[in-house]
Amino acid sequence: MKYARQRAEMVGRQIEARGITDVNVIQAFQKVPRHLFVNEALMDQAYGDFPLPIGEKQTISQPYIVAEMTQALEVSKESRVLEIGTGSGYQAAILSEIVSRVYTIERIHSLFIKARKLFDKLHYHNILTKYSDGSSGWKDESPFDGIIVTAGAPEIPESLIDQLSTGGRMVIPVGDQYSQKLIKLYKDEKGIHKVDLGGCRFVKLVGTHGWNEI
Ligand code: SAM
Repeated sequence: MKYARQRAEMVGRQIEARGITDVNVIQAFQKVPRHLFVNEALMDQAYGDFPLPIGEKQTISQPYIVAEMTQALEVSKESRVLEIGTGSGYQAAILSEIVSRVYTIERIHSLFIKARKLFDKLHYHNILTKYSDGSSGWKDESPFDGIIVTAGAPEIPESLIDQLSTGGRMVIPVGDQYSQKLIKLYKDEKGIHKVDLGGCRFVKLVGTHGWNEI
């Protein structure tokens, strides 16, 4: 009950009041129990207006940024979406309420296992997980209607652009290690189009098409 009330407040104050209008996104935020995606000691802070640590020096993003990125993907019931950076699994769970299938990749084994167990426990049966370097995408399952990268990349990996369907959208933070621009990329018959959605700060995308480990 306590968390349901906190969740309703989060949706009102952090999501709707800041201009998120996509009904599917709002309903997903009303539904997904964010407190179950953080460690027990942090549950009471789960609906706050900030990111939280999830272990392994990684974070679950601030609710508003999750909402902004999800809305920017412009996906619906028929969509298939690829997420790079499963982390806690919260972003994938939000997407799973909206689209037909979510493919999510995580490169840190302990986070991958924890998220996989949580998806099973909460019956998110349309989430497919992979333990791998996601900067190369998931070629066998491509093309995707949406690709969301929840870690900061030095540049947009060509491999991911290749795996986006014509008519698809990608949302990805691009910049240096300290600050990035949130880029929305469209792919159509004429080519690639990019829109800058503003500044953001994410942990590093580490991998072949991202940053080196150190
Ligand atoms: N989407 C997550 C959530 O809802 O909790 C938050 C993701 S956290 C900000 C970034 C995640 O990206 C971390 O778990 C990190 O290990 C992962 N990551 C970084 N580089 C990656 C890569 N090349 N492939 C897959 N995951 C990666």
